[in-house]
Amino acid sequence: MEYRRFGKTEELISVITLGGMRFKHGWTPPRNHLPKDSIEHCISTTRMALDLGINHIETAHGYMKSELLFGHALKELSVPRKQFKMMTKGAPMSGDETRSLVEEQLEALGLDYVDFYGWHGINNKELLKIAVEKNGPVETLHRLKDEGLIRHVGFSTHAPLDTILDAMQTGLFSFINLHYYYFFQRNLPAVQLAETMDMGVFIISPNEKGGMLFRPSEKVKNLCKPLTPIVFNGRFCLSHPEITTLSMGIHEPKHFTQNLAILNRGNYSNSELSKVKAEMDTPLAKISSLCTLCNQCLPCPENINIPEILRFRNLVEAYEMKDYGRFRYNMLEGQGHWFPGTFSFNCTECGDCLPRCPENLNIPTLLMETHKKLFSKPKYLKSKLFSIIKSALKTLKIWKYF
Ligand code: SF4
Ligand code: SF4
Repeated sequence: MEYRRFGKTEELISVITLGGMRFKHGWTPPRNHLPKDSIEHCISTTRMALDLGINHIETAHGYMKSELLFGHALKELSVPRKQFKMMTKGAPMSGDETRSLVEEQLEALGLDYVDFYGWHGINNKELLKIAVEKNGPVETLHRLKDEGLIRHVGFSTHAPLDTILDAMQTGLFSFINLHYYYFFQRNLPAVQLAETMDMGVFIISPNEKGGMLFRPSEKVKNLCKPLTPIVFNGRFCLSHPEITTLSMGIHEPKHFTQNLAILNRGNYSNSELSKVKAEMDTPLAKISSLCTLCNQCLPCPENINIPEILRFRNLVEAYEMKDYGRFRYNMLEGQGHWFPGTFSFNCTECGDCLPRCPENLNIPTLLMETHKKLFSKPKYLKSKLFSIIKSALKTLKIWKYF
């Protein structure tokens, strides 16, 4: 295993993180009920990760029963506390809520302290304001740090770049969890600022949100040869010395082989990677009506996330990434601030965006073309139903029991 310094936290963590988002099995209440097979599954994967030298485990309160599962696994395996670093996250809305949530999380994890606590989802300016207000959540996290319950405070984000940079510049955080990978390089300035500010950088979901690389299109598979798409993207990320660790979504022992293959003894900026990257860059440069993701077309009065939808179009046109495009496009309108924006069919052709596009793209036409290629009605209805049920359970204050 290779290790990197997680910015000013001064902690050395493995470049591969055991991410806990997929360990959330069992959506049934009560919250503390864990199905036997889920526990065994988590134990075997955690054991294997630790044996391979992975020393960083990441979870969150929002990952349903993930914290409880890791708590069981670590206890069952009697892992010495010094052998691993634990990151968890939460999005408490006030100082008081922060303290009780962190105490609840520590109890679920069976730990006296967590190494890294991230305010979960500074996804827009309103949430940034709530997180950093006086006597608010982040200030309370720093108090809990002084009390020894948390060792380092950071944040995770899916926000537009300007909000990410604003959050970083508050100077309140030692690390950042964000999206950055080959198929989504918009956040490079944040990665670079993290280096300037000596913050650790944790990459969220490089394999799944990063392009569904475990099920790549034939074209991507061929362009990446002799590497696999997972290896290419992992090495692309690690070729940035600013990046500390990648959360690979390993949740079964069989996933280790394909993910550990990214390791290259610290040698990431090499000719093999440059060659594959050049192959990968070529098809994108050739497509017609390329959206450069400059964001200048926003805001749209119908709240259409134009650059993200046209990014899916770019990927379908250049790389035949229809599965990934469908997966992400159909998440719109179902994820709240985690994935904001409405579907293309909301476009009224008002024309507001057109004079702002430096590429002179016919945005309404491209949006509708993309919609026709990617929209799935059953997925849309399922996602709508889920968000209605979730918000009803939240209103009734029983969501936390799941
Ligand atoms: S033309 Fe469509 S996409 Fe452009 S601003 Fe108007 S509603 Fe939004
Ligand atoms: S302004 Fe044009 S190029 Fe820029 S993100 Fe919007 S559609 Fe794409």
